[in-house]
Amino acid sequence: MEELMLLLKKFFGFDAFRPLQAEVIQRLIQKKDSLVLMPTGGGKSICFQLPALYLPGTAVVVSPLIALMKDQVEGLVANGIAAAALNSTLPEEGRQQIRQQCLQGQLKLLYISPEGLLGELDWLLSRMEISLIAIDEAHCISRWGHDFRPEYAQLAVLKERFPDVPLIALTATADKITRLDIIEQLRLTDPQLFISSFDRPNLSLAVHRGLAKKEKVAAIVSFIRRHKGQSGILYCMKRVDTEDLAGLLTTNGIRAAAYHAGLPASQREQAQNDFINDRIGVICATIAFGMGIDKSNVRWVIHYNMPGSIENYYQEIGRAGRDGLDSDTLLFYSLGDLVLLRRFAEESGQNEINTEKLNRMQRYCETDICRRRILLNYFGEEAEQDCGNCDVCRKPPQRFDGSVLVQKALSAILRTNEHVGMQMLIDILRASGRGELIQAGYDKLKTYGAGRDLPFRMWKEYLYQMLQFGYIEIDYANAQTLKVTPSGRKVLFGEAQAILTTYREPEESAPAAKKEKKGRAVASPIRIIEANTPEETLMDSLRQLRSRIAQQEGMPAYIVFSDADLHDMVYKKPLTLEAFAGVRGVGDVKLKKYGNVFVALIRHVLNVQQAE
Ligand code: ADP
Ligand code: ZN
Repeated sequence: MEELMLLLKKFFGFDAFRPLQAEVIQRLIQKKDSLVLMPTGGGKSICFQLPALYLPGTAVVVSPLIALMKDQVEGLVANGIAAAALNSTLPEEGRQQIRQQCLQGQLKLLYISPEGLLGELDWLLSRMEISLIAIDEAHCISRWGHDFRPEYAQLAVLKERFPDVPLIALTATADKITRLDIIEQLRLTDPQLFISSFDRPNLSLAVHRGLAKKEKVAAIVSFIRRHKGQSGILYCMKRVDTEDLAGLLTTNGIRAAAYHAGLPASQREQAQNDFINDRIGVICATIAFGMGIDKSNVRWVIHYNMPGSIENYYQEIGRAGRDGLDSDTLLFYSLGDLVLLRRFAEESGQNEINTEKLNRMQRYCETDICRRRILLNYFGEEAEQDCGNCDVCRKPPQRFDGSVLVQKALSAILRTNEHVGMQMLIDILRASGRGELIQAGYDKLKTYGAGRDLPFRMWKEYLYQMLQFGYIEIDYANAQTLKVTPSGRKVLFGEAQAILTTYREPEESAPAAKKEKKGRAVASPIRIIEANTPEETLMDSLRQLRSRIAQQEGMPAYIVFSDADLHDMVYKKPLTLEAFAGVRGVGDVKLKKYGNVFVALIRHVLNVQQAE
């Protein structure tokens, strides 16, 4: 164990294992199989990378995406670990070279795609010494999951060919069926199942509903302004929205690009690279974006529309804050989303499963108890207390007797013979006087204008609540008209009370605004950016240095040092190389390579401030 800890510090610069990492690693070293379920950012990679360093031979890592492999290999090489990816984008010469390295035992890790692996099986893999086999994103093997890849289904051959090599399967999403599927299809021998907590306390959670497009865009722009200089992903259901929003954000002075499967490959690659290398701050994407993205400093994720299931939602927000630092998430949803998703579910061929998944997602959105409790509960965990980091916890709902308000709405619905949808109903209540309304004669109704004291958005919110409490329902088959339910009638006739939750303005429940930084350059020798506090000044300067190095070396900034590493520098303020060695993320190689410049910068920044 001690030796493993030394390796962890020497190569990765970490002082301790995360939960379950040590157990998983020991199991591999004992040459036994395991299945590891950890949320995104939980630290799965170390589970096989460290044993790869410890055991003789080369670890073979199967990974579905070239981008993912490239990122991991770059990260390893930056830490002085011999690793390479064997894939089809390399020229034959390069591949030949990697094969040679494998045969001579020069590599500690070999990344390879499942098709590549099958191709190398007979020649390379049967000749080299394999220390362990890791199957990343193992859920791709299951038809039950959402990322099924046929090539994964052929990986059963691994156990047949290499019965003595320990196999580890890893994934961030696996319900019970998928789990069994992975174990069966990979033919794992007496596997131990490791499930780490799915809790990601560093992600804040918030949901806003019922905003019109204009309001959503305004909320998004103000959100992004509050997260100035930080990377984020804006997920949309429709391709056209990604382009539309990228354009709107750009008009607002925010550097953004669109990403979806319908764009030419070159354009997608450009957007992805710009994002990874911090040339743009925001990517507006469909769910096509993200699986291969290992960027650890994504600081926020916004859902422009509601996702179809909690699994999808959790995986997508999980792309924020992989470095463990505080990150914000925000989800918008509307009736329109719900209608569309319900139709997708019905047409999906797995109607019941998908409708149930959607229902659970809807309940999450509509809850007025701690959202994290609901999420964890969904993944089979029980939370002992409220999280304090979701919109519900931050601003517990205030209740009031909304009976009169509900009666007004219900009465208006009945007086139209249940012929209107939400929009028209609110127009009637607020006496909007628009043409269609007058034509239908709704201005003659007794309830016309009965609710003009409330703005449109409040009515919308209260109608959503009425839906949620079951006073009304939507006739999906009939132009989404509203119907009054039996329990609604009870309220209407004064037999029951309707307790509603007070309307909250979206901004109020948004994550706490973070202090904005005033950037101003000061004379050389080393560029220092002045900011509000000494810590911020130091942080900004460190970021600058990091991105300069990243540019020089042609790699993403987070491969040089992660945000979490920089924060640790700010916290520890190391003034000597010795002290710098104690910083998170500083292993032997980075100490040698970057120690001097970083220590010099830190000394310089701190001295400047002492002189002032
Ligand atoms: P996953 O593959 O589970 O999504 P990663 O393996 O990419 O997660 O790890 C997520 C982040 O956590 C990375 O930035 C990694 O450097 C960091 N990390 C992993 N293990 C540790 C550890 N023991 N101590 C500190 N940081 C860690
Ligand atoms: Zn909470």
